Amino acid sequence: MPADHQQRRQRLAEQFRVLGLDAALVTNLVNVRYLSGFTGSAGALAVLADGSAEIATDSRYAVQVADESPDATAHITRAGRATLIDRLVAAGVTVVGFEDRHLSVAAWRELGERLGWTPLGSTVDHLRMVKDDGELSLLRRACQASDDALAAVLPRIGVGVTEREVARWLDDELRNRAEGPGFDTIVASGVNGAIPHHQPTDRPIADGELITIDFGARVGGYHADMTRTIATGQIGAWQHEIYDLVHAAQEAGIAALGVGEAAREVDASARAVIADAGFGAAFGHGLGHGVGLQIHEAPFLGSTSADKLQPSVPVTVEPGIYLPDRGGVRIEDTVVVHADRVERLTTTTRDLLVVG
Ligand code: ZN
Ligand code: ZN
Repeated sequence: MPADHQQRRQRLAEQFRVLGLDAALVTNLVNVRYLSGFTGSAGALAVLADGSAEIATDSRYAVQVADESPDATAHITRAGRATLIDRLVAAGVTVVGFEDRHLSVAAWRELGERLGWTPLGSTVDHLRMVKDDGELSLLRRACQASDDALAAVLPRIGVGVTEREVARWLDDELRNRAEGPGFDTIVASGVNGAIPHHQPTDRPIADGELITIDFGARVGGYHADMTRTIATGQIGAWQHEIYDLVHAAQEAGIAALGVGEAAREVDASARAVIADAGFGAAFGHGLGHGVGLQIHEAPFLGSTSADKLQPSVPVTVEPGIYLPDRGGVRIEDTVVVHADRVERLTTTTRDLLVVG
């Protein structure tokens, strides 16, 4: 919605004075979309101090940019960034912020010395961390679609079915309910469960195994992210042990979430549950991450994170235990930190699901 985009640009422009900028040149397409609504695969955006926007894209997107970004001045050109620089110079801009984490050194050199350049660093990424109501409602829909897709597929999962079949069924269900899968669906059965980002294979699922399924729908560009580890038939004591530990670690992580909490401490709360049971070395990744227009975005819940949690920030909480040559467990939900509570967006039970 144009009003939301205008508001987001104003929040960015409010930081210009602190950063010593007159304008910003936004070249990361995710950030272009966030600040203007434009979803094309080529383009750049200039944001001026009053929050107004000029957007440059090529003729393939002439109709789309007018439709998606009606409040921005559009330039249809094959020399987008240079055109925007001309416009900024004409508008009296002398120092412009640029996305140093995105723009290549070669592209930055091409932009020349007609303006002073100041790196924006993660300024826009941090703006994107706190979601507005429209963003949260898209995330809720994406998470609901993900829960529903899993519920539709669960009765079909069982001994003899392959990882690839499960992934394909889930992806189809996600396409029926949303824009589709927001990232490559992971289905890791038996020993493959020890690989956190295993790609589904033709391996048939056997009896007495754990199967880790990590997937999520995308709605309006916003990503759900959830993982369930399910079991076939009777599993052994070691499998129950690691499942219960990961479940308890996730509970501890969710309980530690709150406004003002350090992301590092949330990670530590969950990690302690796993480490105290002697499995610390088997949980190698961070506890979670923000979700939004990207599947992985700020804040990051990990031992080296400097992020602090604010209201209206969605994050995943996804502890895991991975035992080489044996198997693994991960349980992941997307939740939102609010001022007074934590809202779970993915709501499928975390009790062990057993299929035939
Ligand atoms: Zn995931
Ligand atoms: Zn995740």
